[in-house]
Amino acid sequence: SSSVTILGAGLAGSEAALHLAARGIRVRLVEMRPAVPTPVHASGDCAELVCSNSLKSTKPDSAAGMLKRELEALGSFVFAAARRHAVPAGGALAVDRAALSGAVTALVEEHPLIELVRAEARSVREAAAGADALVIATGPLTSDALAADLARIAGADHLAFYDAAAPIVMADSLDGEKLFRQSRYEDASAGAGDYLNAPFTREEYDAFVEALVGAERVIQRDFETHDLFQACQPIEEIARKGHDAPRFGTLKPVGLTDPRTGRRPWAALQLRAEDAHGMSYNLVGFQTNLTFPEQRRVFRMIPGLENAEFARYGVMHRNTFLDAPRLLDADLRLRTPQAEALGAPVFVAGQLAGTEGYCEAIRSGLHAAISASAALAGVSAPPLPRATAFGALMAYATDPATVDYQPMHVNFGIMEPLERPVRNKRERYAAYAERGGEALEAYVEGLAEAGLLPRDARR
Ligand code: FAD
Repeated sequence: SSSVTILGAGLAGSEAALHLAARGIRVRLVEMRPAVPTPVHASGDCAELVCSNSLKSTKPDSAAGMLKRELEALGSFVFAAARRHAVPAGGALAVDRAALSGAVTALVEEHPLIELVRAEARSVREAAAGADALVIATGPLTSDALAADLARIAGADHLAFYDAAAPIVMADSLDGEKLFRQSRYEDASAGAGDYLNAPFTREEYDAFVEALVGAERVIQRDFETHDLFQACQPIEEIARKGHDAPRFGTLKPVGLTDPRTGRRPWAALQLRAEDAHGMSYNLVGFQTNLTFPEQRRVFRMIPGLENAEFARYGVMHRNTFLDAPRLLDADLRLRTPQAEALGAPVFVAGQLAGTEGYCEAIRSGLHAAISASAALAGVSAPPLPRATAFGALMAYATDPATVDYQPMHVNFGIMEPLERPVRNKRERYAAYAERGGEALEAYVEGLAEAGLLPRDARR
């Protein structure tokens, strides 16, 4: 019978293993922990959440909510385990992280078709040898040896090792009463300019900087003091150097006049459009090491960002990922000559494939597993619909037109526009969700017809 080797028993790798095994396919799942640790994992368990214990919103009319519905409809094993180990968290799904990874580890270890191998994979060629397909899901903290080997297979220019990026917020979640549009030194009354500005009063600035300095950071280790970061400091580190330091740097108000007061603000954050349609905005100069929940809490103290929705959080840490738009196809298959020469098809899943977020990683592992099993069966899987949350993310992440790619989580900013535009935000989100739900149903139907779902996955 066929067998698939999977590298990495994280969120993506564990899901891929459980899905393939449920389809009756033998799996060799290779995980280096606990013998070889990563800087952020704490245990040797499968599917460990490395930071926050939140899997984000469950609201059906949100991108995160749509993604959850997709995971459920496709019978995700890791997501079902997350549901079983939920802890109260209002409108979000938060989990008992040890219970979740313990449960997934048990499922993996007890499955007769899964062999869990505790070893560090160091060579893609070796891993592919003897397998009918290979799934690489070693995540943002892929070990150095494997990352070096991947660079050979993917091309060194197409593998990023460090990531320093500022958060991106959704335009329609910003307070247009407080923010004003203006480029520096431009006539305030013009109302034009490339930037949105968030003006701080002295009191607002003081409170913000205090929160920034006290906020919880992602664990810092030696590797994060890499040279790259000498020139590019996280905003909280700048604030730590001196209370006024941000005001003389990233948050300097020079050349800006707040039309509401007719005066220069005490400090100002500039936001720059991230896409041609102005759907989302980048917080200029705000690369940060704060944890995701802290970014949400602290950056919402910025005037005008009180209700900001984040299309992507800022990051500043080791983050290995492939330049997905140039390397992967819609099946997450690695399409470089070196990979094609290996004999077995090679798929990439999880954050390494250029998605960000827990649920995104799980869904990505599931997608790679479906693609791998389709390749083994010699059938073609139905195309992933763009109207689904994950379909929109994949369309973005594997579109060769996407330049300067950074891992991204699902969000409405990358959704295909509705056929008939809906102005009201609530109604628009509901329309995305409804359209996505219909596309999902047809997709699941198509997978079932192609024999690509485990028998017990359809509920
Ligand atoms: P992982 O879950 O990391 O799984 C990869 C697995 O591969 C690990 O078990 C690792 O030990 C193993 N491995 C690595 N190299 C090898 C090798 N050579 N051989 C064998 N095994 C190997 N997302 C959120 O939604 N919320 C957050 O709060 C959040 N915080 C984050 C904080 C940090 C510091 C980082 C780096 C990422 C964070 N993310 C967060 C992003 C992302 O959702 C997670 O990283 C997620 O775990 C990615 O899933 P994955 O399956 O791709 O990788």
